[in-house]
Amino acid sequence: MDWQAEDLKYIWHPCSQMKDYETLPPIVIEHGEGINLYDTNGKCYKDVISSWWCNLLGHCNPRINSAIKKQIDTLEHVIFANFSHKTVITLCQELIKVLPKGLCKFNFADNGSSAIEMSLKMSFQYHYQTGNPQKKRFMALSEAYHGETLGALAVGGVDLYSELYKPLLLDVIRIDGPDCFRCPYGKCRDNCSCECFHKAEEAFKQYADETAAIIVEPLLQGSAGMKVYPPLYLKKLRELCDKYNVHLIADEIATGYGRTGKMFAFDHARVSPDIMCLSKGLTGGYMPMAVAITTQNIYDAFYDDYLKGKAFMHSHTYAGNPLACSAAVEVLRILKDEEIIEKAQKRAKYFNQIIKEKFLPLENVGEVRSIGLINAIELVKDKETKEPLDYTKRTGYQIYKKALEKGVLLRPLGDVIYFNPPLIIEEADMDFVTDVALDCTIKQLYQN
Ligand SMILES: *Cc1c(COP(=O)(O)O)cnc(C)c1O
Repeated sequence: MDWQAEDLKYIWHPCSQMKDYETLPPIVIEHGEGINLYDTNGKCYKDVISSWWCNLLGHCNPRINSAIKKQIDTLEHVIFANFSHKTVITLCQELIKVLPKGLCKFNFADNGSSAIEMSLKMSFQYHYQTGNPQKKRFMALSEAYHGETLGALAVGGVDLYSELYKPLLLDVIRIDGPDCFRCPYGKCRDNCSCECFHKAEEAFKQYADETAAIIVEPLLQGSAGMKVYPPLYLKKLRELCDKYNVHLIADEIATGYGRTGKMFAFDHARVSPDIMCLSKGLTGGYMPMAVAITTQNIYDAFYDDYLKGKAFMHSHTYAGNPLACSAAVEVLRILKDEEIIEKAQKRAKYFNQIIKEKFLPLENVGEVRSIGLINAIELVKDKETKEPLDYTKRTGYQIYKKALEKGVLLRPLGDVIYFNPPLIIEEADMDFVTDVALDCTIKQLYQN
């Protein structure tokens, strides 16, 4: 069977111009193991983007596999209103041990965007029910990404995804967020005082009265091109939110679960958000599941006699799915038993070092930035002025195609090449994937 042709007969792939598939047909994966994916011809691809940032502990991880197998013969799913099950309760018991202080009430969904929608509605309704019905707007940072459903898209700030749909979207207050590579204040992220934070202060002065919440991707704006900013920004934001009674929503969908070197990005700032959204790493990349976790204070604003009409009338059919929960429980156990994050942090130093050594000498590399195992290489036209490459050349995409031929799955964001591998990646694979990425970058930039 020609699996590629059959795929194209039926499938409209996400986030793709399907015409591109004429020259680069879909790669049909037969099986996976660790960081390796194998296609129907047996060719191996190193999955150093964790299959859209969700695979945490390798494909077909034996421990997660057996946890799910055990669950599937016990209970596959049950309605989650009025009903519950042991696996989801265990998950909350385990998760609360590692969450930032104060987060203690768990509301489940089945994908990241839905958790974002839920947190926006939750915040709005909280203020409505605590005497502030005028607080009905949201603030978000420039170049933010929070998902693709309409509410999530509205708080997002990446025009590539949202521009066209603007007529359908909420009117969000946009704050110029940190831009450390091209810092307008001429500072450097390792020792600045977040001079850019005055933009947030100005926005709060003007709009806090009508604002329910501000949502951020803490420390790392993924889709913006793996932009990294300092923890001080979150600390300041916490103070500002407290001062103005605005909720701080942490979108830890991409940053949670050790991606930044600690369990959560907020741990670096040692403050807690009012609502935290988790998804991607939550099940190790196995099952669609998400959760919005909040405080007793927010929960209490919804707690009353039924006829008061204060309940949070939000639901997803697959909320709390037991199979997903079984994977999620096992992920937490593996992280702990095998000291995954601590060990990954040690190898992260090596990874960052070789990437800097290999890429920084190139004339068109503007910056190598990293946090945890995530490393991003921003290609520019001019190192001095940091002028971007001509985006119409699709340099990142060309490098992607070359790397695929050599068995490495990169998928750059525009002209930012990045690695966001499963936390279990070993040094030999780090050597291999960075060699391939370097070789493809040089070929594309200088030998075409
Ligand atoms: C992936 C992602 C989302 C959306 O999650 P989906 O499950 O794709 O809907 C939201 N926020 C961030 C930061 C993400 O990386």
